[in-house]
This record gives sequence, C-alpha cells and structure tokens, in this order.
Amino acid sequence: MRLQYNCSSCRNTNYFRPVIATRGDLQMKMGDEVEVKCKFCKEMQKKHINKITAVADKRMLLIGGVLGLVSAIILWLSFGAIGVVTAIIPILIGVYESHAANSFNKYMIRRK
Ligand SMILES: [Zn+2]
Repeated sequence: MRLQYNCSSCRNTNYFRPVIATRGDLQMKMGDEVEVKCKFCKEMQKKHINKITAVADKRMLLIGGVLGLVSAIILWLSFGAIGVVTAIIPILIGVYESHAANSFNKYMIRRK
C-alpha cells in the first residue's frame, strides 16, 4: 500500500511517507493536517489528511508476481502440477493490497 496526494499547485501526484495503516492512526501521529513538500514544484503546503488517499502498491504486485512464478516453476519441477497453486501468491497479495488501501480510504476524519 502507498499513500498519495495531489499537489495543489502543480497537480502532480506525490507519495506520502510514512505509510501508516489507517487514517485514524495517521491523525493520531500527525494531527488533522500534515505539512508536505511537493517534489515537483517544491512548494510547501498543508494537506488535510482526508486528502491523502491509499493505493495498492504496484511494486508489491510485481514482487508477488515474480515470487509466485519462480516458486510455481520450482515446485512444478519437483512436485508436478500441484506446484502451480503457488501462482495464486500474486493474487493473494493483490487482494491484500487493495483491501488495505480500501480500508484506509473508507475511514474519513471528521472536519472541525
Ligand atoms: Zn507541486
């Protein structure tokens, strides 16, 4: 999972760190607004944390895909067709990633 926001001046997508599992935890650690610096136009800005959204991390999907493929091949060579079940690893990671992103996004902080 990655956290991202759009810069209010240049509209580019920035990634937010640290990645915190829920918006509630983010609020506890950082408050209602976070100070961020756009890496494209270098502008400092305050973002309400409701403006920060989570997306599935495509790097994780890629790693999962490679892992799933490699282990499927190895297990297929040693155990035959049963090894192919490990090909579901990337699917599981995909499900986990989108679930994590969804649960972050669905919780919104009440605005004062
Ligand atoms: Zn910008």
